[in-house]
Amino acid sequence: MTEQVYLDHAATTPVDARVLEAMLPFFNTSFGNPASVHRYGQRAEAAVEEARERVAACLRCRPEEIVFTSGGSESDNLALRGAAQAKFEQSGRVLILTSRAEHPAVSKTAVQMCTREGFRLEWLQVDKYGMVNPQAVEEAIGDQPAIVSVMYANNEIGTINPVHEIAEVCHRHHILFHTDAIQAATCLPVETDALGADLVSFTGHKLYGPKGVGALYVRRGTQLLPQVTGGGQELGLRAGTTNVPAIVGFAKALQLAVEEREARLAHLKLLQGRLIHIVLEKIPDAQLTGHPEARLPGHASFAFKDVDGNLLLQMLDSAGFACSSGSACKTGSPEPSEVMAAIGLPRAWGLGSLRVTLGSGTTETHIEAFLSLLPELVEQVRSLCRG
Ligand SMILES: *Cc1c(COP(=O)(O)O)cnc(C)c1O
Repeated sequence: MTEQVYLDHAATTPVDARVLEAMLPFFNTSFGNPASVHRYGQRAEAAVEEARERVAACLRCRPEEIVFTSGGSESDNLALRGAAQAKFEQSGRVLILTSRAEHPAVSKTAVQMCTREGFRLEWLQVDKYGMVNPQAVEEAIGDQPAIVSVMYANNEIGTINPVHEIAEVCHRHHILFHTDAIQAATCLPVETDALGADLVSFTGHKLYGPKGVGALYVRRGTQLLPQVTGGGQELGLRAGTTNVPAIVGFAKALQLAVEEREARLAHLKLLQGRLIHIVLEKIPDAQLTGHPEARLPGHASFAFKDVDGNLLLQMLDSAGFACSSGSACKTGSPEPSEVMAAIGLPRAWGLGSLRVTLGSGTTETHIEAFLSLLPELVEQVRSLCRG
């Protein structure tokens, strides 16, 4: 098998060696349950509380404002359901405002809350770059939502939303604001004062940490109803025996992301610039999806007219490059993703989406090899599609 080049870091990332090293002792030597009274338990509890302090230091918040979860999807669910249910009990509010370009962990949750749980849902429209305008939030907010949820950076098209401004709008009207910072956390500022949100979702595996662990920042004073009920772990907000090694790994990964932010940014931006420039120059009927400037470094997403995106992915894979189309979860589906629809891409373009996401291990050589192959492959797929 030829060496594969991994260009799908928005789907998941490899675990950093330093993260893995930090995790290892908590699988066997220090395997205790933090809820236990004995020393095994105490040692595990100390590791979890140290991890919580580490995460809080990265986010510049208090340790008691961090709830560890099983990942990004659970964090989003806990934020939306937990906060909206508490708000409903408190004030009878039933409206949820969220954008048309959210990850399904938010959008599907909001839809289900609307169809089965008695809430009402209003969509915030996005512009052609997939961005939510704070003014649109201002206009929609008059109906007194229980919560507003707008992602920090989009997983499919990389667009960065003006979350701080949206948070300001929400707070002026005393409305709770949640943001999904899962894609952004690898290399953008995540300090809670920079974001201004009341609830912020994170996951480990998109920032060189392990899968199956994440966190939700819950601003002090924000009421939340637990969604996983049982034991009193995580201040009673999330039951279940604590996943100690994963939490230790998550905290280490987030710390590295914050410490190495500048270096990561510089590395990714350089490669991203070259990639986008050459793709648009060399490939006819190609466009960048998402915002040209306000986008994640290392995130390049395109739409090619009259190209079967899935076929292109398969051919890239055979040629040694692992990429993705708009949304990994949509593979096999003949419809353009909801995000492609939300930004108004016609079907002939929306089906031909390609997402190339770079990471710490991506080199100039990888990008040059990719660029020397892609134009030809796109043309091949195009001629096959034209039949
Ligand atoms: C990956 C992702 C999620 C889901 O996180 P998991 O840890 O895989 O559950 C949610 N939101 C965004 C923006 C993501 O990219």
